[in-house]
Amino acid sequence: MKGPHEIELPAKVITGSGALSALPGLLESFGYRRIALFTGPNVKTICGYRVENMLNKAGFECHIYTVGEASKPEAETAALFTKEVEADAIVAVGGGKVIDVAKYVSHAYGIRFVSVPTAVSHDGIASPAISLKDVEGFPVSKFGRPPVAIIADIDIISQAPKKLLASGFGDIIGKLTSVRDAILARKIKGEYIGDYSLALAKLSAQMVAESAELIATQDPEGVSVLVEAAISCGVAMAIAGSSRPCSGSEHLFSHALDIVYPEKISLHGEQVGVGTIMMAFLHGINWKRIRQLLRMVGAPTTNEELGVPPKAIVNALTIAHKVRKRYTILGEGGLSESAALKLAKVTGVIE
Ligand SMILES: [Zn+2]
Repeated sequence: MKGPHEIELPAKVITGSGALSALPGLLESFGYRRIALFTGPNVKTICGYRVENMLNKAGFECHIYTVGEASKPEAETAALFTKEVEADAIVAVGGGKVIDVAKYVSHAYGIRFVSVPTAVSHDGIASPAISLKDVEGFPVSKFGRPPVAIIADIDIISQAPKKLLASGFGDIIGKLTSVRDAILARKIKGEYIGDYSLALAKLSAQMVAESAELIATQDPEGVSVLVEAAISCGVAMAIAGSSRPCSGSEHLFSHALDIVYPEKISLHGEQVGVGTIMMAFLHGINWKRIRQLLRMVGAPTTNEELGVPPKAIVNALTIAHKVRKRYTILGEGGLSESAALKLAKVTGVIE
């Protein structure tokens, strides 16, 4: 490693049953008064208004903004709103989209944000990695700052649709292959990546794997494990200074699928889970166990369950190595069409 290495971590994490009630005290402790409250169109009625009331009652000046989609134009509009209301901080109440938009505004304009996830559909609730879509719908990945604090209320997250939880599981189980890819890049390309961040990412995947049964039944104990694992992944990325420990070939496959089949309705973590099965096969690790765990939590393991045609899986596999400059098991040349077809078939992803 060359030169100083700076690590920025969240200052506070409050999790557990009823954690939300700690929000006013937390904002107070940071000295924030004027709050831009970002929330989603659906989550607004479930939780957004509740937070607004809570903050108004506690004497905060609270301005609510409804985030439509996780796109760059939407994030720019949200940034304009935040500046107009002269907010000291953003409180992001919602799932992945709301938090990604808050992260972008925080990164671009230097306003800190508090992450209040209402679901854990991916590992982004505490990470500095920002994922948005550009005007044409292509993925934009940026690296910003982690939230200043995270309030993860297990009562609320346990109520989220099971599909979101299964997606979060898929994103986190993906660390089994992303960590392998990082080690490969270090060996072959001499890329610097610290062991501590890799160990933390790997541990997150092992934790959720061990709790798969509890996660499958949406047991609060299982949901807690998933939340903690997602936070650990965020910390792993913050330590590494990049998404490297948590995003390898399984993520390249997911990003590629977004590009080759934009009409898809499958979630990021669901796609990552399917990618993990196939990349685990290439890495020579126990891909059958990964598939079994995904099935257990009700996450997709086939093209049909993802709702995408077999051709899209094969096409995504053939371009995955090109979607971002990141060395993985896919190498620099990627997979040929026949190799991709063979891989998808042998792992049962397509028939
Ligand atoms: Zn992910």
